Amino acid sequence: MSLAPILPGATLGVLGSGQLGRMFAMAARRMGYRVHVLSPDTDTPTGHLADLEVAASYDDLDAIGRFARDVDVVTFEFENVPAATAEAAARFAPVRPNGLVLHVAQQRAREKTFLADKGFPVTPFAWIRSEADLDAALQAPGVPAVLKTASFGYDGKGQAKVSSADEARVAWTAMGRPEAVLERFVHFQREVSVVAARGVDGWTTSYGVIENAHTNHILDVSVMPAAVTPAVEQRAAEIARGVLETLDVVGVLCVEFFLTDADELLINELAPRPHNSGHLTIDACMTSQFEQQVRAICGLPPGSVELLRPAAMANLLGDVWQHGEPDWAAACALPGVHLHLYGKAEPRRGRKMGHLTALAPSAAEARELALRARTLLCRT
Ligand code: AMP
Repeated sequence: MSLAPILPGATLGVLGSGQLGRMFAMAARRMGYRVHVLSPDTDTPTGHLADLEVAASYDDLDAIGRFARDVDVVTFEFENVPAATAEAAARFAPVRPNGLVLHVAQQRAREKTFLADKGFPVTPFAWIRSEADLDAALQAPGVPAVLKTASFGYDGKGQAKVSSADEARVAWTAMGRPEAVLERFVHFQREVSVVAARGVDGWTTSYGVIENAHTNHILDVSVMPAAVTPAVEQRAAEIARGVLETLDVVGVLCVEFFLTDADELLINELAPRPHNSGHLTIDACMTSQFEQQVRAICGLPPGSVELLRPAAMANLLGDVWQHGEPDWAAACALPGVHLHLYGKAEPRRGRKMGHLTALAPSAAEARELALRARTLLCRT
């Protein structure tokens, strides 16, 4: 396969049509690329920005082949694209990152096993495939724990915190006794993430550590720089680089960590694509995570990851619409606040509709500004 750079004017194909694809398409088009998107839907967040929107099932391998034939490289914006889909696309165009990354990252138990086998620090866990596995896991790693379905869980869906063996059995049965992982409950001081990228010729780069706060298992607010020591910064970057190299990733990958009271980093999960916590890089860094994804998959050099100003990102879920159309003008009136909306028509509860980024002299002030802006949106 040719490793020659894919230059502006070429066509980039993206599988998946949500907000991550939309922001990727914005970065790509700004750089002079054309963008094609494929997903089962039409009138999508990515489709609004793409040159071509193809509606087809990921299982329609003929359609996937036709899609791949018309583009110079294929990437994806969510990791649950079936492996067969990636293989079908790879017959006609390079798929970046490769199918191994998808295979590992789309199944939680497989991902944790892979990382542990390669010596990366992960939360103590057990792979549950039977009642006997669950009984053994209740001895070690034991409770309290979080029971998580192994496949297709995101934003805390398919998860239950369990404090006793009985609770664990009830939760597993209520989930329909799927393949799952039982993970030791971690008393973390904070949750952090690192967005990193790796290019076709092996360069790696990572943004600084981002600090994340979740509400109801969904990311709520991210702040950069995170309040962590230089040693933690360095270790987090080393782990991210190791993961990129071990999985031979070409593209962007986010490592989500728990930081324990002892300043130990434990990997919670991987996202083999730009990540919600990295959205603040659009406004706050020299190069956004989406431009970095374009550069990585096109064989270009990396952009600078320098943070230009401390920043905070506050997610806008459908809940923000509960009292009617949010007061956009009020939030936009605050200096240093940027509004990002994803073009989704229906503001359902818990649905990611957009985000606000606030820039300020310090991370704490940026956080306060982002939260104030979000509060102003809600008319009461
Ligand atoms: P996940 O979908 O695995 O990223 O989990 C969503 C959120 O649930 C995490 O960001 C944490 O806030 C919380 N969580 C998940 N697993 C654990 C754990 N083992 N210990 C403590 N909190 C957890």
